[in-house]
Amino acid sequence: MPSASPALSEDRHARSPIKFCDTVKQRTVAPDYQRIFESSLRRLRDERRYRVFADIERVAGKYPEAIWHSPGGPREIVLWCSNDYLGMSQHPAVVRAMVDTASRMGTGAGGTRNIAGTNHPLVGLEDELADLHGKDAALVFTSGYVSNQAGISTIAKLIPNCLILSDASNHNSMIEGIHQSNCEKRIFRHNDVAHLECLLMQAGLHRPKLIVFESLYSMDGDIAPIEAICALAERYNAMTYCDEVHAVGMYGPRGGGISEQLGVAGRIDVIEGTLAKAFGCLGGYLAGSSAVIDAVRSYAPGFIFTTALPPAVCAAATAAIRHLKVSTRERTLHQDRAARLKSMLDAHGLPRIHNGSHIVPVPVGDPEKCKAVSNFLLSESGIYIQPINYPTVPKGTERLRITPTPFHTDEQCDRLVESLCAAWDEFQV
Ligand code: PLP
Repeated sequence: MPSASPALSEDRHARSPIKFCDTVKQRTVAPDYQRIFESSLRRLRDERRYRVFADIERVAGKYPEAIWHSPGGPREIVLWCSNDYLGMSQHPAVVRAMVDTASRMGTGAGGTRNIAGTNHPLVGLEDELADLHGKDAALVFTSGYVSNQAGISTIAKLIPNCLILSDASNHNSMIEGIHQSNCEKRIFRHNDVAHLECLLMQAGLHRPKLIVFESLYSMDGDIAPIEAICALAERYNAMTYCDEVHAVGMYGPRGGGISEQLGVAGRIDVIEGTLAKAFGCLGGYLAGSSAVIDAVRSYAPGFIFTTALPPAVCAAATAAIRHLKVSTRERTLHQDRAARLKSMLDAHGLPRIHNGSHIVPVPVGDPEKCKAVSNFLLSESGIYIQPINYPTVPKGTERLRITPTPFHTDEQCDRLVESLCAAWDEFQV
């Protein structure tokens, strides 16, 4: 994929795409609230952006098999687009930790972190995460989204006159954090260190700067030039904030992410991650120095004013992290499955976005066709791959984002490729 143009970069860095109707501004009679919402939905449908969720029942122990509660009744399917990358949500030790902890401590945390919600498994989880990334401390949030939004906005707000330098392909949660900080921002072209250096130079050595980027971009599956970014940050006195959501658990000798794999975790100021993908649970976190983590803990509204994660979720996440710190089996099999699927797609002349990660994006380039192919795969072959359309990816780059897991068998891979070939013929992609 070519890197994003500056125009596109600005577009991605626009806030969530909600447009308000003229009717709101010009009303002369009592507002018709239902019509306002109906017309917003119509607009989404007209733009082919209306989303329909598949009702899935996953079956513990049979991953990636699941049941789809389709309009015509339940059907057995194979998941090919889950972010439960390593199947840890069904790992016996993880399930056991959740069930045992809920039995002993109940379900909810019962309060915010400050008011009775700081449960013992949560404290243990934060210690585990700090150790995973080799940092002084870690702080757990209710999701990866919230950790980015609250973390970036709070860190940048606390730095006087902070200039944020943000990769053009950053996730919406990071963009929202940047907006919420009210700091000045500059967008550098995706993974373009020359452009980043140019912006750093313009800002000067003395202006405080925060470089915000991801280690592994989930839609293209490409990996950031982290070492080069760290080197620039050191040269120009900038702080670094790296989202490792799609890498933690899966890369590095202990699952510490791409930064651990490259041996640069110590050069990144703040590492952000999720407990909801490779660790199979829910929640997000920041890891960094004691001062940064304590400051976010003390100032971030998205951390302070919400109920803490339940003890059972924390215990399960800790079990997953501990397992993946010592077991490389899942990581090895995962990479093996991804490599096999990629070479099969190549052998059959099916397109893919080339990258060095486990994500297999298959471009379609048209929202209608993308949806049609996805529907075809599900209805004809019981293969579930959600179409990825705008605004998750730029218009014209619609795709199927395939995520192999250690548990996909050779037969399932064969069937997927056969079905993709059939869909390509059917819809002349
Ligand atoms: N950061 C990135 C890059 C993501 O892709 C996502 C979600 O997919 C998040 C953060 C949010 O993580 P979570 O799903 O834990 O809220």
